[in-house]
Amino acid sequence: MAKVVSLQAREILDSRGFPTVEVDCRLADGSFGRASVPSGKSTGSQEAQEMRDHDPIRFGGQGVLTAVHNVQNGIFLALSDVEVADQETFDRILIELDGTAQKQKLGANAILGCSLAFARAQAAAAHQSLVHHLAGLYGLQEWVFPVPMMNVINGGKHADSGISTQEFMLVPHGAADITEAIRMGAETYHVLQDLLKAKGYRVSVGDEGGFAPQLSSSIEALELLTAAVEKAGYAPGQDISIALDFAANDFYRDGVYRFEGHAWTAEEMTDYCLKIAREFPIVSIEDGLAEDDWKGWVGHSQRLSAAGLQCVGDDIFVTNPGIFRKGIDQRIANAILIKLNQIGTISETLATMRLAVQSHYRTVVSHRSGETDDPFIADFALATSARQIKSGAPARGERVAKYNQLLRLKEEFPEAPLAKDLYGPHP
Ligand code: PGA
Ligand code: ZN
Repeated sequence: MAKVVSLQAREILDSRGFPTVEVDCRLADGSFGRASVPSGKSTGSQEAQEMRDHDPIRFGGQGVLTAVHNVQNGIFLALSDVEVADQETFDRILIELDGTAQKQKLGANAILGCSLAFARAQAAAAHQSLVHHLAGLYGLQEWVFPVPMMNVINGGKHADSGISTQEFMLVPHGAADITEAIRMGAETYHVLQDLLKAKGYRVSVGDEGGFAPQLSSSIEALELLTAAVEKAGYAPGQDISIALDFAANDFYRDGVYRFEGHAWTAEEMTDYCLKIAREFPIVSIEDGLAEDDWKGWVGHSQRLSAAGLQCVGDDIFVTNPGIFRKGIDQRIANAILIKLNQIGTISETLATMRLAVQSHYRTVVSHRSGETDDPFIADFALATSARQIKSGAPARGERVAKYNQLLRLKEEFPEAPLAKDLYGPHP
């Protein structure tokens, strides 16, 4: 049993210079936990809603003082007189106090900050490292490191590069272990920088630390990426492959995919995905269609799965167990992106992940484009044997905070292998 004796929240800055919530949680025995909350830009409409102040005088309306107030008053008051047995009880109290489907009453940023900080305080109370504590909550069976998906070219809403595809990621799945995988990704990132410079492109970066050159098309990005892998001394498709996130919500309007000068149906968008997957070492495609195009997703998932590709649902599932259940019933996607702030509590996120494993979907734990230096998701990905982790480029402090935590965890689990069962249709 734990008693929460203080919940202190504050407004801090995220990686884009927007305010976000940080929470300190203290238990009666003195145990302490601190956590901060990320923020997305290309969001799904069914995501849990973050609370923003909408006060134009501060941070252009983006302030989070209301959420801070909700932590210290609403949430703390609801907890101050109760003995909290565990994470589930804690999260349930917050969910019931909020009472809305998308957590808009208290704010998902207020709720998630408390949920994460409480987990850290509980770990401290049990004299356990965070990863061991989270593994206990999940019921972990095997220690397996997630393969990093490093976003090295940024497009879509994350950059002004003019390309429609949001993320071009390096997937060093051929590495011997997590340490080598991170090195291979970082080396290729630097070679890519040299290649871009040699071609006269600018090497400024987007929100997730990937380069944001003014390329002519996504095909040119794929050519550059494949060339960088080779020049770095690796075999494309064997050592390092490519994953894409189209974030197709952002170019889907009136039933049409307006992609780089085209106006495509769902079938044509899927044709394009399959065509580039034949020409380039692509192993995984995320949000190739928009969240409300469920009809399109059925055929899209079937065709990508049949081609041996991983097909990841992000905006369509929003880490929500109820929505995901419907997707499973329709055999939509074969993997799910996991973002704690899309649903707002650890317990609900774990429920979604258990559902994924039961239904033979792979899980990909992900950061958001607006991040902090909190490495929570690195411990979380290992503790839940997520098959992959997205944390942006191997550059910029808030991105490498997660990769560096994986390097530290490797010292704690020297024998744990890198996940290998990555791609292809349902087993
Ligand atoms: P976001 O994008 O964090 O800006 O929502 C990430 C993603 O689409 O995976
Ligand atoms: Zn996505």
